[in-house]
Amino acid sequence: METKRCPGFGRGPHTLPANLENFDADKDRAGGLGAHCKDCRRAYKRMRKAEWKKNLSPAEQAAEKVYQAEYYKRILKARRAKQ
Ligand SMILES: [Zn+2]
Repeated sequence: METKRCPGFGRGPHTLPANLENFDADKDRAGGLGAHCKDCRRAYKRMRKAEWKKNLSPAEQAAEKVYQAEYYKRILKARRAKQ
């Protein structure tokens, strides 16, 4: 089985099976897989989002909370409609 090395994010480099279960597709790269594994990409996105939130003004943070609440309400509604 082919493996691929992930440089890691918030933890050291590690090697995983080179497949779409562990890596996102990236046509522009050799092998067609992204550089970081999905777990590291998620960790990276979480960190970026936390940093972005820290830089918001109090008014913007309040607006973001309202937006999130509305967003979750819509998702719950859509989920209930499906059942
Ligand atoms: Zn990784």
